[in-house]
Amino acid sequence: MNILPIIDNRKNLFKKADFELVYYSHLVAKKFGGKVKAVVIGAHSEAGILGKYGADEVIGIDYNGTFDTSVFSTIIKKISDDYIAKLIVLPHTSSGKPLIGSVAIKLNAASVSGVLNIPEMENNSFIFKKGTYSSKAYSNIKTLSEKVVVSLMTNSFSPVEVGSPVPVSAISMEFVSPKVKVVAVEKAEGKIPLTESDIIVSGGRGLRGPENWGVLIDLAEALGASTACSRPVSDVNWRPHTEHVGQTGIVVRPNLYIALGISGAIQHLAGVNNSKTIVVINKDPEAPFFKAADYGIIGDLFEVVPKLTEAIKRFKGGN
Ligand SMILES: Cc1cc2nc3c(=O)[nH]c(=O)nc-3n(C[C@H](O)[C@H](O)[C@H](O)COP(=O)(O)OP(=O)(O)OC[C@H]3O[C@@H](n4cnc5c(N)ncnc54)[C@H](O)[C@@H]3O)c2cc1C
Repeated sequence: MNILPIIDNRKNLFKKADFELVYYSHLVAKKFGGKVKAVVIGAHSEAGILGKYGADEVIGIDYNGTFDTSVFSTIIKKISDDYIAKLIVLPHTSSGKPLIGSVAIKLNAASVSGVLNIPEMENNSFIFKKGTYSSKAYSNIKTLSEKVVVSLMTNSFSPVEVGSPVPVSAISMEFVSPKVKVVAVEKAEGKIPLTESDIIVSGGRGLRGPENWGVLIDLAEALGASTACSRPVSDVNWRPHTEHVGQTGIVVRPNLYIALGISGAIQHLAGVNNSKTIVVINKDPEAPFFKAADYGIIGDLFEVVPKLTEAIKRFKGGN
């Protein structure tokens, strides 16, 4: 069984999420037998390092054009046919999510988006687990086709080094013409994407205005965390929309999510309740967020947070 994790490396910068995809594929191969053939679209001269995370081989494709589902799905179809892939693993990100459907159609494959587990096997069919009803419940999905394509929820498996660098086979191919053209990109420079952040400090209306965000940013800097916010905060432009998490915003799964002055409405929780540890600071003991929290502090954030930041700085200074 060949398993193909698909990595978009047009920016020539491997990310933790790429290693996670390869490591996940390695765990599936270890459980059921098979080889991991990591497919790197874009720069691949350094791609042999994916062997450290469990790739048996790396297939490199020189493509530096626009991200376009028809181009990417055609590439994946060709490699999948050439290497007789059983399982294609995409990241559950802004590129993987639109791609999964077109890859599934081209391969006549079952597709499961946002998977969370190493699948079980029943009568030669995989059974994957994924979140449903805004992650308030889980579904087990059985695949009924020969080929399967999944997108893996980011931060589900911490990548571990299990091997050493492997050779890269460069493949050249004809690309179809893209069906879209990116005319402009507005990017928050220098930040780790929220979907890949280990620690997130997030603020809600309880901060009362953008002029008070320093208290949150100081805590985030002390922890080396990314910053996020609730929807009303970005709706009134206290913070950029790129920070809005929740049902209609970004879905995150950090190891630590600290919520300051956020009530914990169901639409907010939908985007954060798969965080490994949730800490809530809120002055209202009845705030719904406390029900989803692992740790809670009932108090005025303007008193609590500076003390917490100082304590963290002292702790880090002494270690
Ligand atoms: C269709 C739909 C989709 C939505 N999608 C999203 C989404 O994706 N993400 C999202 O976040 N929301 C979403 N919402 C909005 C959501 O329902 C809530 O209105 C929103 O999350 C509330 O934001 P908040 O917690 O920042 O503000 P509030 O509900 O006003 O809560 C502020 C909290 O701060 C606390 N507080 C105030 N002062 C202090 C202080 N000094 N110290 C400590 N605590 C303090 C208060 O006790 C309160 O709990 C959506 C709503 C709808 C209808």
